[in-house]
Amino acid sequence: MRRKLVVGNWKMHGSLAQNASLLGALKSGAAQLSRVDIAVCAPFPYLAQLKQELSSSSVKWGAQNVHQLEKGAFTGEVSAGMLADFGCTYVIVGHSERRSIYGENSRLVAEKFAAAQLVGLIPILCVGETLEQRESGVTETIVAEQLDAVIALTGVQALSKAVVAYEPVWAIGTGKTATAEQAQAVHAFIRQRVAGHDAQVAQGLVILYGGSVKAANAPELFGKSDIDGGLIGGAALIADEFLGICRAGL
Ligand code: PEP
Repeated sequence: MRRKLVVGNWKMHGSLAQNASLLGALKSGAAQLSRVDIAVCAPFPYLAQLKQELSSSSVKWGAQNVHQLEKGAFTGEVSAGMLADFGCTYVIVGHSERRSIYGENSRLVAEKFAAAQLVGLIPILCVGETLEQRESGVTETIVAEQLDAVIALTGVQALSKAVVAYEPVWAIGTGKTATAEQAQAVHAFIRQRVAGHDAQVAQGLVILYGGSVKAANAPELFGKSDIDGGLIGGAALIADEFLGICRAGL
């Protein structure tokens, strides 16, 4: 039986003061939600604050990006080893904003995934199609290409220590959520594709849905058999909303 997981992606938001009050609320809220796994992925400068504030809490934490190489002359970059050394549990790789704004392709995302796993971080691999791709009927082709790039590089067993997040690009930050049926169909496709390599890995794989999830729509989404929780952007910045979403995982 897979446990539900809800991960907040703060993106480039926050301040020490705002984070302190958000984390305070999350810590006390999470104490009542022991049957759901909860995590927060914050900008690099705030990881120290997460480490300090969440040390006595069940809420795990991590980063939103990582470099694919171990070390070197890459000014401004952060390696997986540094994140692991610092105590991160998770790192998001292949978020659609990284793919579209920073030109990260599936091969690079797979390298970041592999670098994260090599040092014991749990990568959260984001996959998803644009509106144009959905309307052209190529959603499964796109998602398969993004997933297969990781399987080709790391082998399917690597997915037993990873999380996949299906995030239709047209639903991210737009207020437009995929219907629970649309999301379930792609989640089932992802699980089936992994099962084509290894049924046991597929069965254990936690697949999150992301894209304008709120406390109001989370119960229906999380009620679907292949949706194991959510990757939450905007709503992760509002304690009551985020905790409401976490509650939907009970
Ligand atoms: C995200 O950034 O991963 C995301 C799903 O954002 P939002 O919840 O705001 O759509």
